[in-house]
Amino acid sequence: MQPCDACLGLVGKPSSVPPHGDLAASGASAFGPPGKMTKVSNNWNCTVCGNWMYQNTANGDPPNEWVIGERPEK
Ligand SMILES: [Zn+2]
Repeated sequence: MQPCDACLGLVGKPSSVPPHGDLAASGASAFGPPGKMTKVSNNWNCTVCGNWMYQNTANGDPPNEWVIGERPEK
């Protein structure tokens, strides 16, 4: 899927940069045992290009950075 300019503009930016206006919040990703989950990203779905954007936390990979990726697994 070809990312729109707004998504491309976020990739590689610090997570402190706010999501662009066409990103819809779509939950978060976390790993680990119940009760001790480590949040790795806030997940966003672009309503323009359909790509998924991940606003990584300090525990993400790479940490504290915006990345573009596949639809998150449920
Ligand atoms: Zn987009």
